[in-house]
Amino acid sequence: MDLGLAGRTALITGADSGIGWHAAQLLLAEGAMVVISDHDQTILDRAAAALDVDDNRLHAVAADVTDRASVGRLREQVRRIGRIDILINSAGITGATGAFESIDDDGWAETLSVDLMGPVRVTRAFLDDLRSSANGRLIFLTSENAVQPYPEEIPYDAAKAALLATAKALSKAYGSEGLLVNCVSPAFIATPMTDAMMDQRAAELGVTTDEAIAGFLQEMRPGIALRRRGRPEEVAAVIAFLCSDRASFVNGSNYRVDAGSVATIN
Ligand code: NAD
Repeated sequence: MDLGLAGRTALITGADSGIGWHAAQLLLAEGAMVVISDHDQTILDRAAAALDVDDNRLHAVAADVTDRASVGRLREQVRRIGRIDILINSAGITGATGAFESIDDDGWAETLSVDLMGPVRVTRAFLDDLRSSANGRLIFLTSENAVQPYPEEIPYDAAKAALLATAKALSKAYGSEGLLVNCVSPAFIATPMTDAMMDQRAAELGVTTDEAIAGFLQEMRPGIALRRRGRPEEVAAVIAFLCSDRASFVNGSNYRVDAGSVATIN
């Protein structure tokens, strides 16, 4: 299926690994020009090399989404490349975890600064481009946690729920101009984010990482009917669809890529 992405330019944050990197790989394969961004230029350059693109459709520009000046510099550098049609906000962290009473203001602030204010800052910086594009697409990576909060990840739950509300409001604000705004909500995808969670669980329980994953699926994610972690390319496929002409009547939606983890039907 031709997604009609040739000639479009996409900016993807959090793209040196995981879902962001795989989204970049797929959009490049579909013919788009892609700017990948993440906070460390050296790691980002390595990620760009791994994408192995031999024409000038790939650019790697570092920025810290928690830093307004850094996002401003990203804006300036991307402007030299061209106007973007697509923004995929994938940068995120698990943030502060543990019992509610154990998480202080700093833990809350760090989590909200990356997971909520990061996408807000980057979206604000590029909103003019997206609004003026004939094919504007704005994608937020939220999470199953936005609608099915977990008590040991409350700042992340709250950030992702707020992001979902923000995305819905933006879809109403700009849909009439042709800018389509949607969310993708994964659950338990095999990326560095959940690798770190599983390594920590394995160390705490004195088991192997595979045993930690199996136990986590059984005890903590019983709704994942496929009984495995998702693959980042399985999330990238849905992102690419939402960026495409094929999704021309999809706006204000939240696409779950969670194998059934969220228990509700709406
Ligand atoms: P990942 O850790 O591979 O990717 C996240 C990226 O964000 C990393 O490359 C990291 O360097 C970058 N990042 C973190 N802080 C940043 C900052 N201040 N500035 C710029 N970049 C920063 O994890 P992933 O699983 O690919 O996560 C992608 C998105 O998907 C995140 O928003 C995450 O919350 C969401 N998500 C992931 C899962 C999952 O199971 N992996 C589930 C639900 C939601």
